[in-house]
Amino acid sequence: PASEGISYDKLKHILHSTPDASKAREWSEYYTAGPHLTGKNLSQAEWTRDRWEEWGLKSEIVSYDVYLNYPLDHRLALLEDGKVRFEATLEEDVLPEDPTSGLEDRVPVFHGYSASGDVTAPYVYCNYGTYEDFEELQKANISLEGKIALIKYGGIFRGLKVKRASDLGMIGAVIYTDPGDDGEMTEENGYKPYPEGPARNPSSVQRGSVEYLSVAPGDPTTVGYPSLPGAPRQSVDGKIPDIPSIPVSYAEALPFLKALNGHGPNASAFPSSWHSGGLAYKGVDYNIGPSPDSLTINLMNEQEYVITPLWNVIGVINGSIADEVIVIGNHRDAWIAGGAGDPNSGSAALNEVIRSFGIALTAGWKPLRTIVFASWDGEEYGLLGSTEWVEDHLPWLSEATVAYINVDVGATGQHFKSAAAPVLNQAIYDIAAQVPSPNQTVRGQTVNDTWDGHISTMGSGSDFTAFQDFAGISCIDVGFNGGPNDAVYHYHSNYDSFHWMDTYGDPGFEYHITIAKIISLLIAKLVEEPVIQFHASDYATGLEKYLDSVKALVNDSAVDETMTKQLFKSLDTAIASFQAVSAIFDNKADDLSRLLASADTPGALQQSYDDTYPSVQKINTKYKLLERQFLYADGLDSRSWFKHVVFAPGLWTGYAGATFPGLVEALEDGNATAVEKWVDIIEQRVDGAIGLLAN
Ligand code: GLU
Ligand code: CA
Ligand code: ZN
Ligand code: ZN
Repeated sequence: PASEGISYDKLKHILHSTPDASKAREWSEYYTAGPHLTGKNLSQAEWTRDRWEEWGLKSEIVSYDVYLNYPLDHRLALLEDGKVRFEATLEEDVLPEDPTSGLEDRVPVFHGYSASGDVTAPYVYCNYGTYEDFEELQKANISLEGKIALIKYGGIFRGLKVKRASDLGMIGAVIYTDPGDDGEMTEENGYKPYPEGPARNPSSVQRGSVEYLSVAPGDPTTVGYPSLPGAPRQSVDGKIPDIPSIPVSYAEALPFLKALNGHGPNASAFPSSWHSGGLAYKGVDYNIGPSPDSLTINLMNEQEYVITPLWNVIGVINGSIADEVIVIGNHRDAWIAGGAGDPNSGSAALNEVIRSFGIALTAGWKPLRTIVFASWDGEEYGLLGSTEWVEDHLPWLSEATVAYINVDVGATGQHFKSAAAPVLNQAIYDIAAQVPSPNQTVRGQTVNDTWDGHISTMGSGSDFTAFQDFAGISCIDVGFNGGPNDAVYHYHSNYDSFHWMDTYGDPGFEYHITIAKIISLLIAKLVEEPVIQFHASDYATGLEKYLDSVKALVNDSAVDETMTKQLFKSLDTAIASFQAVSAIFDNKADDLSRLLASADTPGALQQSYDDTYPSVQKINTKYKLLERQFLYADGLDSRSWFKHVVFAPGLWTGYAGATFPGLVEALEDGNATAVEKWVDIIEQRVDGAIGLLAN
């Protein structure tokens, strides 16, 4: 079967010309008009399903029952000799210019999966709260046990800051946003804060999940299987924090930071990563503490834990080939009423993608492969909607899925960002070179021309995680973000609002429709090209590079160097064979692609498609299953939900990806047996991939 109805060129024309900035603006305004927290957005799920139906998709709402928290009450105060010296309002300012900042039912500041508690103790400034930062504190003999951690956002996933604090015996965590991480457009540099200017509003607070993301995403009571009604529930121990935490603005962190002046060593005596604090101009010296016993923080956090339904919307366009599927997803839930950037710039763009494909459907198009669209709920708490769905449909997804495309924050600035499985690198370059950049300094520039060309490895922090790390499906994540010279993005704050987007983020909504075009054309490339547009040899090149970075760790490991080097030799050999086999395989695929592309009439295409079908199908099945070869059923040693031997979120980073995580962690632990075990596991996987492509 070839695709039906209209030609690939005609389809591309529709996908280029349909996305409409005024429509994207309309969808953005709809999604950001009121609170749509996980489990509290049914009307938006229904609206989304109804629009997708209207545009020609078969769509339904798919629900799971997830365990999560909603905030009831909180308090954050600075006490001196038991008396209140400062009490935080824990409120973001209501701005008359920004209507959703003042909604009656706006969402309080809190952390998803935070523990309830009421603690009072001296406190310590812990910088970003990374694993290394806590190591520095230990080296400096700062007493941490029984203290409260005052930590700034940035660098790593917030839940892992709380995890490390808890592991070291700390009893609470206060996490604040330091303007030192805001780039150039700061109040200190003379820029006016939002809404008058592009600098951060001092009262803005970053909400967010503190689930222990690198242990497992998804519902922490059903790790590994779907949260369907009646599912057995596991204990949450070790998956979410056991100490209370709260986020706070820089305006309200100031009294706590200043009160540390003169107490304990100064951050300037610590490594350079401790020198980026941006509140010196407000009188903060950045002393570490601990504060004296007479100077304490009282942190009270009351959370209600419930099991509640959430609602994914799933829409399908059936292709001629049922068992070759491309899935595209974006989450719909937000921490705040707005969410104009996160996630609804992606939601608005996705709607324009679907509307575009709908127009192609009306013109009689039927795709070659099947397309599944998803509007996920529950991403913010811990990728709940996508993870439960993947766990629910694992056998079918493993059998049929070619790729998953994710868009979370679609547009909050002008810088194109992408992460991808290596087999998809070429597809991204190709599409970026087809889509015009909204920011052309030279006429005709494409996104590719205005992009640094960097593609990251897949880490975590968005809905691709279960696809990549649990199901072994090749993934892409795309979006436009702001850079250090752009208006400050108020991530997870009330000011990630329609008003901010319309004024500073993407006035004109051109980046919304640009990301829509990128996604549409990526989908089209993946569903319409008779030969799946993957490159196995880019995987092999990736593996070589990742192994090089592992080799660089050998010196620092307690594991015997001679042994490790010997083991790595055999891995080198395996990867070199994989490289050779991949190159032959890709060439065969390219030859077939060229042959099919040379057919100049639909009849001739159908004919050559029919002639080559058996070999095309064989190649496509192998490309589809290539990523799956790198799964290891028992998973990583300390976090068995993660099944991929090449990619995982870093154990102590969360967002940033680790490569060969099992091997790296074994080296870091100085565990020779584990090093040997992981080299063996990886080698078997590489051999499996060779076998798949060679036979
Ligand atoms: N994207 C959300 C965040 O960064 C959720 C990530 C997660 O829980 O995995 O806070
Ligand atoms: Ca689950
Ligand atoms: Zn998001
Ligand atoms: Zn988010």
